[in-house]
Amino acid sequence: MQEFTSDQLMLRDMARRVADEKISPLAAEIDAKSHYPDELVDLFRKLDLFAIPYPEKYGGAGQGVLSACIMAEELAKVCSNSAMVPTTQELGATPILLGGNEDQKSKYLPPICKGEVRVSFALTEPEAGSDVGNIQTKAVRKGNEYIINGVKRFISYSDVADIMVVFAKTDPAADARGLSALIVDAHSPGITIGKHEDKMGFRGFNACEVYFDEVHVPAENLLAGEGQGFKLAMKTLDKTRPIVGAIGVGLAEGCLEYAINYSKQRVQFGKPISSFQGLQFMMADMAILVEASRQMVYKAARAADNEDPEMAKLGAIAKCLATDTAMRVSVDAVQILGGSGYMREYPLERRMREAKLLQIVEGTNQIQRVVIANKILS
Ligand SMILES: Cc1cc2nc3c(=O)[nH]c(=O)nc-3n(C[C@H](O)[C@H](O)[C@H](O)COP(=O)(O)OP(=O)(O)OC[C@H]3O[C@@H](n4cnc5c(N)ncnc54)[C@H](O)[C@@H]3O)c2cc1C
Repeated sequence: MQEFTSDQLMLRDMARRVADEKISPLAAEIDAKSHYPDELVDLFRKLDLFAIPYPEKYGGAGQGVLSACIMAEELAKVCSNSAMVPTTQELGATPILLGGNEDQKSKYLPPICKGEVRVSFALTEPEAGSDVGNIQTKAVRKGNEYIINGVKRFISYSDVADIMVVFAKTDPAADARGLSALIVDAHSPGITIGKHEDKMGFRGFNACEVYFDEVHVPAENLLAGEGQGFKLAMKTLDKTRPIVGAIGVGLAEGCLEYAINYSKQRVQFGKPISSFQGLQFMMADMAILVEASRQMVYKAARAADNEDPEMAKLGAIAKCLATDTAMRVSVDAVQILGGSGYMREYPLERRMREAKLLQIVEGTNQIQRVVIANKILS
């Protein structure tokens, strides 16, 4: 039994109801048409789902990372694209929450909580994925402004963003210590949204290249001081990795549930295939991984909410375990359906394509292992 607050139980039940009644019927179409319906984003706004983790002082629901995980898990059970809508907003907003001064937080967080302002997190570049210290984008201070030049790659929702938190070198001679974070108006002159990547899965949102050509940004938009960008990015990921883990848990749970139901209906050799021990053991292993991942995600989320010194390690473990689980469980669920599992008529091939991304974003699972190894060996 989880020790959830009454607010968290209400959130879980509401997210479950919305997922089943409103989102589930659209999940396959979102993937097939590569389009996320505006009416679902409006529904999220109406239900205040963009506000969940942020302090009430800035218009949030004051519920923290664990609640964001509870919500993401429920949405991801039926539609990973839907879970990504508030999750990516959290990735963009968390640097403002953690690194912003009072003026920045009061200005930007309330409209983000309402979902009126969409925010992207712009870290990755063509030559700097895992190797964040190699970022080439530059922000040069001139009077009361920074001038940004460079290219970002794979930036989720950048085509619909109103603002972006952009990580750029203010001291190009330095490595990661020369990195700073700035809040950038996404409609500024000099910003061009480039190629929309043709993705394997998660086709309900666009990940695009973003070009910065002499983009002027007020110096007051600097977050946390020059040279603090790397630390801020890492602190942000400590808070958001459990949420990616929660999407993995939800995705895996959805796949397991589907496979169990199918195995009870499908008859071969005169019996439901659920009666074969070979498949029973597969499903038992899937349940073991799902349950272990869920507990690990909740533990990491509580650590993030309590600023526990172990939160970076726990967040990396949770993200790694839960998203590797999502991959394994989705592959095994396809196997349990046999040929039908491979067909687009059934949801599992979509879930399998989506699971792969979770092992890559917010630091690949190799990078999570680097984080964990550094922590346990230091
Ligand atoms: C759909 C999508 C959406 C995304 N959204 C965003 C976003 O909104 N904002 C953003 O900033 N980024 C975003 N990303 C980028 C994502 O975070 C990166 O793709 C990821 O960090 C990996 O970087 P890379 O793709 O350059 O791979 P690389 O860093 O080139 O890695 C290639 C391989 O080498 C491995 N590797 C690298 N270094 C090591 C090491 N030290 N030890 C062991 N193995 C290593 C990696 O694990 C991987 O297997 C998104 C990516 C995708 C695909």
